[in-house]
Amino acid sequence: MIILFIGAQASGKGTQAKIIAGKKGFAHISTGDLLRQATGELKEKTDVYISKGKLVPDDLILELLKERMKRPDCKNGIILDGFPRTLEQAADLEKVTKIDQIFEIKISDETAKKRLTGRWNCKKCGIAYNLVTAPKPKKGKLCDNCNIPLYQREDDKNEKAIQKRLNIYHEHSEPVLKKYKDKVIKINGEQTIEKTTKDILEKLE
Ligand SMILES: [Zn+2]
Repeated sequence: MIILFIGAQASGKGTQAKIIAGKKGFAHISTGDLLRQATGELKEKTDVYISKGKLVPDDLILELLKERMKRPDCKNGIILDGFPRTLEQAADLEKVTKIDQIFEIKISDETAKKRLTGRWNCKKCGIAYNLVTAPKPKKGKLCDNCNIPLYQREDDKNEKAIQKRLNIYHEHSEPVLKKYKDKVIKINGEQTIEKTTKDILEKLE
């Protein structure tokens, strides 16, 4: 059973993928984890790109995924989070496995912008806060642990940069959602985390 979670940045897709995987005993596989957990020859190959700050090519991500899918925690099902992002990647994925269900976690660009510009981080301990959603810092814009001012990533401050990221998401994901429309289940991502989880669980086959 392969389930895809597709959603814009700040849609809560990753959070939901993790919660649902935990509740159903599925493996939660994100592209970031795949890259971080690479070992041996595959790690050497990915490191070449990462060290240069380059995007890891699709065929390599697919190889990492194939290796990862052999692990025993995948036997009940797999939630793929952040892959495939494009039609090409989806076609590649289908060479390896069948796609059973796709959950599209929908939020408006306005909500995404609001949530993204609400992100503040602590330079010292690395904690990420969100002034719009959660977790919010207890005191103004100070870190709860370190009591020092929080900062915003340049990317999250800049509305233009955010809109650009959202446009890329739409441009890539819409053809995928269209191609697999019979498998796509739309979920309202503007609700609370709990309500969104409930909706997904109700629709999960
Ligand atoms: Zn801190």
